[in-house]
Amino acid sequence: MTDLLQVKNRRYLVTGAASGIGRATALLLSDLGAKVLLADINAEKLEEVREECKGEGDTLIIDLMKTETIKQAIKDKVSSFGKLHGFVHCAGIPYIAPLKVVSAEKVEKVYKLNTYAAIELAKVCSNKQIYTGEHGSFVLISSVYGLVGSAANVGYAMSKGAIVAITKSLAMELVNNSIRVNCVAPGFIKTPMADKVDGMMDSEYDVRLNLLHPMGLGRTEDVAKGILFLLSDMSSWMTGAVLNVDGGFTAQ
Ligand code: NAD
Repeated sequence: MTDLLQVKNRRYLVTGAASGIGRATALLLSDLGAKVLLADINAEKLEEVREECKGEGDTLIIDLMKTETIKQAIKDKVSSFGKLHGFVHCAGIPYIAPLKVVSAEKVEKVYKLNTYAAIELAKVCSNKQIYTGEHGSFVLISSVYGLVGSAANVGYAMSKGAIVAITKSLAMELVNNSIRVNCVAPGFIKTPMADKVDGMMDSEYDVRLNLLHPMGLGRTEDVAKGILFLLSDMSSWMTGAVLNVDGGFTAQ
């Protein structure tokens, strides 16, 4: 049964691998013998994570907001790295803004990275030139705020609610290609992204956050474990699913 969690010798692209949830995911996969293609815009931090990885891996420095560059960049890497079994799209940015100051320009930026990049990655990674053709699994990252409401969050909520819908549509479109598509919806995890949000909130924010998570706040490793489950054959009959990894946030 434990063999089902095996990702040994499989090859995965992990975006946002320089920090937070992407970093934890890359390290866990690497620990378990997967070959990881670490992608991020932050070259320096990406290299640090590559050095931390126990197994084989490579880096891809890329701005995922530049949609038109994604296909060629991955294609070029895969020719030496080997075809992929799947990807995890962890790169993302927050956008906290009360309705009266929400701007189309900033919403578009959040959409481009958090949402459209996921579609583009699915398009590229399901291509025969990139995909191994077996054990395919794509994991997208939504959020509890893609499922439940919170104030001053319309732009981010849009980007994460859309991930749930995209997951289901991609699951249907790719089911005959032996590719499963699922997403995780994490609760609040202390990462550089979360610190940015924290810095914009009042002093009671931490207290409120703790109340929202009956099991306390999570760690990046908690989310990485959920992602591993969805990548591995342990979830072999799951596609189009949303896995809440949120310490009970959405159970209330
Ligand atoms: P993080 O800030 O720690 O890491 C995000 C990574 O994305 C960084 O390494 C950054 O360099 C990279 N990135 C930013 N812009 C990029 C671009 N244009 N191209 C390529 N890479 C880029 O964030 P995190 O907290 O680990 O979040 C990871 C994902 O999880 C995000 O999609 C986020 O929305 C989601 N999420 C986070 C939380 C949380 O509480 N931290 C909760 C729910 C969902």
